[in-house]
Amino acid sequence: MAEGLEEIIRKHTLKNAYDYKLAIPAKIIGKVIGEFPAAKENMKETMKLINEEAMRVNRLAREEIEKELSLFSFATKKEEKKEIELPGAVQGKVVTRFPPEPSGYPHIGHAKAAWLDFAAATRYGGKMLLRFDDTNPEKERQEYVDAIKEGLLWLGIDWADETYTSDRMEEFYAYCDEMFVKFKAYVCTCLPEEVKKGRLEKIACDCSAREPQENMSLFRKMREGKMEEGEAIVRFRGDMKSENTVMRDPTLFRIVKAPHYRQGEKYKVWPSYDFAAPIMDSLEGVTHAMRTKEYELRNPLYFAVLRALELREPKLIEFSRLEIKGAPISKRLITPLIEQGKVEGWDDPRLPTLKALKRRGILPEAIREFVLSFGLSKVESEPNWDRLLAENRKLLDERCARRFFVKEPVRIAVLGAPKKEAVLKNHPNQPQMGERRVMTNGDFYISKEDLASISLGETFRLKELYNVTLVERENGKMKFRYDGDAGLAAKKIQWVVPEEAVRCKVRVPKDLLDEQGNFVENSMGEDSGVCERSCLELSEGTGVQFERYGYVRLDKKESGFLTFIFSC
Ligand code: ATP
Ligand code: MG
Repeated sequence: MAEGLEEIIRKHTLKNAYDYKLAIPAKIIGKVIGEFPAAKENMKETMKLINEEAMRVNRLAREEIEKELSLFSFATKKEEKKEIELPGAVQGKVVTRFPPEPSGYPHIGHAKAAWLDFAAATRYGGKMLLRFDDTNPEKERQEYVDAIKEGLLWLGIDWADETYTSDRMEEFYAYCDEMFVKFKAYVCTCLPEEVKKGRLEKIACDCSAREPQENMSLFRKMREGKMEEGEAIVRFRGDMKSENTVMRDPTLFRIVKAPHYRQGEKYKVWPSYDFAAPIMDSLEGVTHAMRTKEYELRNPLYFAVLRALELREPKLIEFSRLEIKGAPISKRLITPLIEQGKVEGWDDPRLPTLKALKRRGILPEAIREFVLSFGLSKVESEPNWDRLLAENRKLLDERCARRFFVKEPVRIAVLGAPKKEAVLKNHPNQPQMGERRVMTNGDFYISKEDLASISLGETFRLKELYNVTLVERENGKMKFRYDGDAGLAAKKIQWVVPEEAVRCKVRVPKDLLDEQGNFVENSMGEDSGVCERSCLELSEGTGVQFERYGYVRLDKKESGFLTFIFSC
């Protein structure tokens, strides 16, 4: 369909409203001109049309926007981001899985894995499974299952089926018996130290000669709780002489008597990751199983288990683990910080958990862009937070209202200042976000830092108000004089009227770990000051831009005191 200007405006306005919840004329004009260059000739008319259409669209319900939008098509941008290529993928037949262990809260590393799994499945019109890899009773909890689901939903990831490895224990036991029968596994009753020594010296132990019947009956004893933890394990008959230590008769099952959060006390013998993961992938129809690179040495074992059981072999794909300088992106590193009380909890704003990132005001879209930018590459780059924060700033810029915050306030009086009402725009180029009006009478709080930067005789501007000159400075005493409304003095300073000042602080999270990976004691900074009265109307969880300071998110509201967290 050849589209006229009005249709083009309509479709881009709808798209803008769909993508950003609110159609913003300034963001639409470029797209319209890109597609209809002649619209440039009468900009006034074009802008008028866009403004009208934006007003119309902004009143529509989301479903209506979607419906109208579905009537239009868009030229797809080429090479927008690294496409995920899966070897041997068949359109409509790809099945991936995200397999977290519910032993902690999800972090940004999980977001990377989950986004890759989900984006790959989506790209090929397939599906992603969410599998709780829960065969470690001592570490797992329902609370973590819930937190993982909540985190994924927040990220915008949707799964086809939700499964639990621990639901298939009976099958694992049956496969284990099959392995005994096929001489592929045996019960080893050596002491743990002996097992370790044997592996190190590449020497098989006597247990490996056990007959299937004996293995099966020992395995039954293990399962019935007649053997203690550490007394026996099941081992795969790999190759004790292999150069790959993983293949030296690895553990397939161990005794764990602790109750399981989902299965209770039903099972006392639990499969290892090396046994459960390939079987689950195969049984669940996974076509492409992705995992982080550190598992690469385990790949031969993955396939050896499947071959021993004559099960279908999925494709294995590795990608690099996400590491960020100064951040503990691993439950193994985060859990002790929580247990030792070094951080406030899983949502401490310094942590890389999804909960913490959300609390800090990092948007899920920014996380998605960031983690997917690495693609399925195996290259280990250790980025810092900058790219994520830059992405986040870009998104927040259009959404966040502006407010004035004065750090370490100092009170000044401006001589000769008229009473004047300031009209402060909530957003520099989005008039529909409104404004606030503040009555001023010459008394202000400005920040200590700004104050120190003003030299004698200098004229600066109180933002959106008027010009002021520093006329006298004598032993710490400063005199300011009103210098008219006109013209724009070079330096613009935000201010707060003392009568309306609301006390507040901004907590500023910094790197939690130093270069050596040690905990940094004073990694939570804090700026205190005052903000304008209109901040009292913000609800907890709202993000704003403190002008000339940065984006912050309101974390806690107490009577007469606001606590923000610095976002970026
Ligand atoms: P952790 O070190 O946090 O315990 P894990 O691998 O033991 O990590 P799981 O819950 O088992 O945690 O992980 C689920 C999936 O997320 C796995 O496929 C794992 O490879 C992936 N994953 C975990 N951490 C990262 C990371 N930092 N970068 C990329 N993927 C990760
Ligand atoms: Mg793990």
